[in-house]
Amino acid sequence: MPRYEYRCRPCDSTFELNRPMAESSAPAVCPRGHEDTVKLLSTVSVGGSAAAPAAAPAPRGGGGCCGGGACG
Ligand SMILES: [Zn+2]
Repeated sequence: MPRYEYRCRPCDSTFELNRPMAESSAPAVCPRGHEDTVKLLSTVSVGGSAAAPAAAPAPRGGGGCCGGGACG
């Protein structure tokens, strides 16, 4: 089962969940019970030597994503 990483905004921390791929975009509740979480990009490395900085923007600390879990 794939593992996904989420960030809890109230906790300002990250946590991981093992869940089916079909539920990867479903809302995730942090271990402390907060529902205000966002799914982070997986850290799967892609083959190839060419750097593509624009292809996979890294999650930024300020919650620059759309927030509220609507990205997925
Ligand atoms: Zn939390």
